[in-house]
Amino acid sequence: MSHVVYLETFGCQMNEYDSDIVRTILKQNDFVFTDQIESAQVVLMNTCAIRETAHERIHGRLGRLKHMKRERGLVVGLLGCMAQNLKEDLLTKNSVIDVLVGPDGYRKLPDLLLKAIEARAPGVEVTLSEYETYADIVPEQTEGVTAWVSVMRGCDNFCTFCVVPYTRGRERSQDPDSILFEVETLAASGIKQVTLLGQNVNSYKVNGTDFADLIVRVADVPGIERVRFTSPHPKDFPEKLIEAVAEHPAICKHIHLPLQSGSDRLLDLMNRTYTQREFIDLANQMKTRYPSLTLTTDVIVGFCSESDDDFEDTVHTMEEVEFNAAFTFMYSERKNTIAARRHADDVPHPVKVSRVTRLVELQNRISYQHNLAYIGQSLEVLVQSEARKNPDQWIGRTDGNTMTVFPKTGEGVCPGKTVTVAILDATSHTLIGNVLAPDI
Ligand code: SF4
Repeated sequence: MSHVVYLETFGCQMNEYDSDIVRTILKQNDFVFTDQIESAQVVLMNTCAIRETAHERIHGRLGRLKHMKRERGLVVGLLGCMAQNLKEDLLTKNSVIDVLVGPDGYRKLPDLLLKAIEARAPGVEVTLSEYETYADIVPEQTEGVTAWVSVMRGCDNFCTFCVVPYTRGRERSQDPDSILFEVETLAASGIKQVTLLGQNVNSYKVNGTDFADLIVRVADVPGIERVRFTSPHPKDFPEKLIEAVAEHPAICKHIHLPLQSGSDRLLDLMNRTYTQREFIDLANQMKTRYPSLTLTTDVIVGFCSESDDDFEDTVHTMEEVEFNAAFTFMYSERKNTIAARRHADDVPHPVKVSRVTRLVELQNRISYQHNLAYIGQSLEVLVQSEARKNPDQWIGRTDGNTMTVFPKTGEGVCPGKTVTVAILDATSHTLIGNVLAPDI
């Protein structure tokens, strides 16, 4: 008899991708999936350890599962980074969790779940592997016209705020032929855009193949019209990759380059191994090579001991680089990181809130100026889906990854088509236009 599983995913895109791996492994072992938690026999939560808010949400969910477990003997599995980071701390006497599996242990999940279902035996698999890349598993990605493809796992950079090296282990690159096979399989199923995923894609290396070689091979796959990647590290961004982005028509002219801080003192405390000047020079080099490049970033405010002057350095960096978009976060201490062991999380919460608010306002102004400049231009947009808020509109993304909405006019326009859209209006996050013609 098949066991029915409900799987919920928290956190980053790598976790979404891992959930697809988990789904594929479990389906190969006769488990079936439901999107109704009430009809599930097994509830799995693929968790995130990056921020405190994610932890709080997961603890809230676990609390709510208690009565379901009492009433109908539900089996509860906690997967992913939080499972790996907190390990046995989570298996207290009254814990609702039966099975705890870290990101490198998903091949053992079917067995552990069967033992929990049939013998009520708890199971733990939190060994970090130096080799596991799930290279032979092509995860099912059935929604939409875009897909994610993991090219490497783990990270060796040890940024002091980051838990990833502890939850996802050492860097491992996946064999390029298995990546190409996965991309070809996706193209055959109608996927038009792939985003190559890794914690630091610049470190990708298998024999003689580096990331620039890999992305060009992926961009050459027939049927794949757009290739993106995330995330590179500014400390070792190769010129060869800037060239590949600029030259290959299928590689999107969009680079996500995480800044984290504009203060040299904090960059050093964070172990980012570049300075503000080096970051700005790299951004300028990219923009000189491709003037209409879209540049986006991540910034942390309120990292340990961040002073007003440190924060102003971040503000000035953002003003100088003029990113198209930025994801700004308040620092929250993660257990087992270098920062948690060595530095106090001493910036008061209200200061963090006011700094993040200021950066969001600054970035919204800059993004709006970038988007206003598109008014009057015609841009290529990959149609992704019907707009959620208005069924009479399509939603898609430009090559630079800016969200674009336009009315459902024009013959043959549908998800998966690339169309030319005349841009008529803009907000800080969205372009609004009219379709001129389907291009293909
Ligand atoms: S590069 Fe730094 S921030 Fe990114 S995953 Fe590695 S340790 Fe974490």
